[in-house]
Amino acid sequence: MRAIEPTLQGQYFGGYYTESDSTGDIHKFTYGLSQACERLGVRVLTGQEVARVASTGQAASVTLTNGDTVNADAVVVCAGVHSRTLGAQLGDRLNVYPVKGYSITVMLNDAQSQAAAPNVSLLDDETKLVTSRLGADRFRVAGTAEFNGINHDIRADRIRPLVNWVNQCFPGVSTRRVEPWAGLRPMMPNMMPRVGPGRLPNVFYNTGHGHLGWTLSAITAHQLAGHVDGWARQTQPVLHHAQLGRVTG
Ligand SMILES: Cc1cc2nc3c(=O)[nH]c(=O)nc-3n(C[C@H](O)[C@H](O)[C@H](O)COP(=O)(O)OP(=O)(O)OC[C@H]3O[C@@H](n4cnc5c(N)ncnc54)[C@H](O)[C@@H]3O)c2cc1C
Repeated sequence: MRAIEPTLQGQYFGGYYTESDSTGDIHKFTYGLSQACERLGVRVLTGQEVARVASTGQAASVTLTNGDTVNADAVVVCAGVHSRTLGAQLGDRLNVYPVKGYSITVMLNDAQSQAAAPNVSLLDDETKLVTSRLGADRFRVAGTAEFNGINHDIRADRIRPLVNWVNQCFPGVSTRRVEPWAGLRPMMPNMMPRVGPGRLPNVFYNTGHGHLGWTLSAITAHQLAGHVDGWARQTQPVLHHAQLGRVTG
């Protein structure tokens, strides 16, 4: 273990090493993805809140809290822990539950901290904490499962154990500047995402990815595209043809 990650301090008996494991900056990824979608003609609306969503089975409409309505042939719900409320408006029951997790991003402001922080992604099985090194000057530690409803409060007593863990395992890293964060994992009881159509043929779901939303995002998006494509071929052959023409042409 020390040969693979020499910065790790303390007594260890062994661990698993997955060479193919990788980490990244989720903000950069999602922002870049939205830009790539826009280049392909997608209209992205940000800073908007959906008040209501409705479908007749042939046409769908999304009403925003500013009063605007977006009409569409079909709708895909992927609203994290709020998928449950939106799904109910469409006649579907989605038992997505919020499971809050916390992270700290340790700012590695000096050369000593940068040298003392790990580069390999770690998972401490006992504390259930995971780590990512984000470039030279940031080190992220995440974990915790809190059942507390839809609540975004960042509790000091949840953050402290993460900071203590860094101090214990990486004593050379300064934890003077730490950015705390909390997020709600949209968790299903069986920990499997809900991907596919709902009760109405033009309503789809891609939600409930729990603790692995980014990891599963590419495959579940691919699966969802298959469902939507199947629906479009059956119900809207003209539209389907036109869309294909635009993407490939
Ligand atoms: C501490 C922590 C660490 C994690 N680490 C990892 C990891 O290492 N790897 C991994 O794969 N996953 C990780 N996850 C899990 C991952 O964050 C989630 O699975 C993922 O964010 C789920 O994505 P989502 O798009 O389905 O839901 P969300 O990320 O919750 O996004 C839903 C979006 O819908 C919007 N929305 C909801 N309702 C409305 C409405 N009415 N109107 C408009 N917008 C609305 C919300 O604002 C939000 O932007 C972690 C989670 C936490 C909390």
